Amino acid sequence: MGSSELTADVVVIGGGPSGLVAGLAFASAGFDVALIARTAPADNRTTALLASSVAALDTLGAWAEAREHAAPLVGLRIVDATQRLWRAPEALFDAHEIGLDAFAWNIENRRLIAALERRAEAMPNLHRLTDDAATVEPHDDSVIVRTASGQTVVAKLAVGADGKNSLCRTAAGIEVQSRAYPQIALTYNVSHSRPHRDISTEFHTEHGPFTTVPLPGNRSSIVCVVSEADADHLKSLSGDRLDRELERRSHSILGKINADAGHGAFALAMESARRFASDRIALVGEAAHRFAPIGAQGLNLGLRDAAALAEIAADYRDDPGQPHALERYDRERHADVMSRTIAVDLLNRSLLSDFLPIQGLRGIGLHLLNTVGPLRRAMMREGVMPRAAQPRLMRGEALS
Ligand SMILES: Cc1cc2nc3c(=O)[nH]c(=O)nc-3n(C[C@H](O)[C@H](O)[C@H](O)COP(=O)(O)OP(=O)(O)OC[C@H]3O[C@@H](n4cnc5c(N)ncnc54)[C@H](O)[C@@H]3O)c2cc1C
Repeated sequence: MGSSELTADVVVIGGGPSGLVAGLAFASAGFDVALIARTAPADNRTTALLASSVAALDTLGAWAEAREHAAPLVGLRIVDATQRLWRAPEALFDAHEIGLDAFAWNIENRRLIAALERRAEAMPNLHRLTDDAATVEPHDDSVIVRTASGQTVVAKLAVGADGKNSLCRTAAGIEVQSRAYPQIALTYNVSHSRPHRDISTEFHTEHGPFTTVPLPGNRSSIVCVVSEADADHLKSLSGDRLDRELERRSHSILGKINADAGHGAFALAMESARRFASDRIALVGEAAHRFAPIGAQGLNLGLRDAAALAEIAADYRDDPGQPHALERYDRERHADVMSRTIAVDLLNRSLLSDFLPIQGLRGIGLHLLNTVGPLRRAMMREGVMPRAAQPRLMRGEALS
């Protein structure tokens, strides 16, 4: 590789978790990879990594470090905290019921990213450019990426892992279907006086879920989905007032709360790219899909994108950006992404809806899940280990 023009098989754009995993997956499959990723401080979000995502990270050699900072989610509790006439019964799901030690492992994104970056540094065929992609130009035989500092990368395939305002998506001419929600997700990381007992609790309110997710020790992350007005109110609180408010909203299940300094704020939307690949550019993670943080699906889908794309590309080793490869990627990811997007959208809108029959249906659904064992176990398995889409990495199989 020269200093101002680099040649690689694959160029990955974006150093969030999806981009780093894509870079590692391609490098582990033997491709020469350029990763264009600025070093930006991670926000305070955490990710509940499902068992299949953990298997992929383990196979890529990044889990040993991440594991030290992750907490298992053995129980998932859903509490209907709305004031509505028809309220759903409380539901508690236990991972042991489907033979798992844990549904997921929750980790702060900054810790996950650090572990992935360390692993990426150790890969001799993964070259990181700490830079921004300024332009992405697809051509018949290659894609050319120019960076903000003037470097050029020529590759067969560009992987757009550049998040919700994806430059790669625009360069590929891919349109987005979107729906904005009148909701903001505020994120906090907190210490608390009572143990979480490895249980994540989702309180469903009229404006969205208030979710506590275990972190190691007596610590948890909180995702609080609220209206814009309520978000302004919460953002104005600090110190004891904020701690008391978070304790009140969590119904004191974690005892006294002490929030870390700072919070994250995310305007919620459902966005889905109309295609996941075109013109030598394939999209992974939030560049391809985004939805409300319900049921810990977003990044897990992003990791499945990265694993599936690298696996398909390995079948087209001479030209991983050729149309056959991209069509296959688009086809194979469609059902998984769309089914999760629709399910999360429906669940979120059922919370926001004041329409009584919809409240009733949600209640009946949860009641059935609570009482009908086979249905509950099937739903748990589908949420954690989707049958439709399990790329090899997610099954713990190496790509090389
Ligand atoms: C409140 C909240 C809680 C969530 N909890 C969970 C959860 O528990 N489980 C789960 O699976 N998912 C969860 N998600 C979803 C998850 O956080 C996202 O899916 C995930 O962060 C997306 O990662 P990404 O790498 O695709 O995108 P990003 O993290 O947005 O990364 C994109 C990267 O691209 C870089 N970039 C952008 N443009 C350029 C450019 N031109 N050149 C170079 N780099 C560029 C950016 O700097 C950034 O680093 C949650 C989301 C929210 C909002």
